[in-house]
Amino acid sequence: MSEPSELLTSVLTCMDHRLAPLAILQLEPEQAHVIRNAGGYVTEDAIRSICLSQQLAGTNRIVVLHHTDCRASQESAEGYRALVKANTGVSPTWNVVPVGDPLQRVQIAIEQLKASPLVDTTHMEGFVYDVDDGTLTPVG
Ligand SMILES: [Zn+2]
Repeated sequence: MSEPSELLTSVLTCMDHRLAPLAILQLEPEQAHVIRNAGGYVTEDAIRSICLSQQLAGTNRIVVLHHTDCRASQESAEGYRALVKANTGVSPTWNVVPVGDPLQRVQIAIEQLKASPLVDTTHMEGFVYDVDDGTLTPVG
């Protein structure tokens, strides 16, 4: 299969301040839409954003970029709910299940995106960024 002449990228990544996704992926701002949330998980809103990025702006490549030492992935879903409830009095209803291993997190995200009929996953890659040494590991 031949590559399209111009790949415009949707990047799904974590909100962590230690990640500068465009610099890490060597992209210019006009080459990418960056969708960020706590943990870089595939949520309904992440799918909505990638879908509209593809439909409205013609992005045709997806990069899932996760990282080591992710604070949004170190606790169980129940643990995060308990923390939020203790501090706000409200138990959140989100259904994200945190996964500690970043390689596994990327693989799960890729499978979840492939399962969505709303996004074109023909050109999709996954990476783990090491926040300690700056290395970028592709996830096959
Ligand atoms: Zn993170």
